[in-house]
Amino acid sequence: MHEWALAEAVGLALYNYAKQSGIRRFKRLIIGLGELQAVDKEVLELALGETLRAYGLELVEYDFVTEEASFECRSCGFKWKLGDLSLSNEVREAIHFLPEATYAYVRCPKCGSPDYSITSGRGLSILGVEY
Ligand SMILES: [Zn+2]
Repeated sequence: MHEWALAEAVGLALYNYAKQSGIRRFKRLIIGLGELQAVDKEVLELALGETLRAYGLELVEYDFVTEEASFECRSCGFKWKLGDLSLSNEVREAIHFLPEATYAYVRCPKCGSPDYSITSGRGLSILGVEY
């Protein structure tokens, strides 16, 4: 269950923040979820709730924002976004479910190289905290 591992990472980051600032009650947490990060939001919210409680923190509300996936070709330096590609729904679904599948379906739109890096859209980030 990687939702729990993600929640633990967020919990720890907030805990460190709370330790420095003395703030233990947060109004809103804005979490960026990568387009290529397959996450069950319900499980993640549950996991976050438990994790923050364990750290003695209080959080009222979550906001999830999807971060667009972007790529950079290692051969020609071309940059593009997942939204720029015309992919079938089936392929999109496969990619969301298993980000590694991207390499099976996506080539550099400019030079056709399969050698590119995913520069954003993976993982999870804390975009903002309100208290
Ligand atoms: Zn290229």
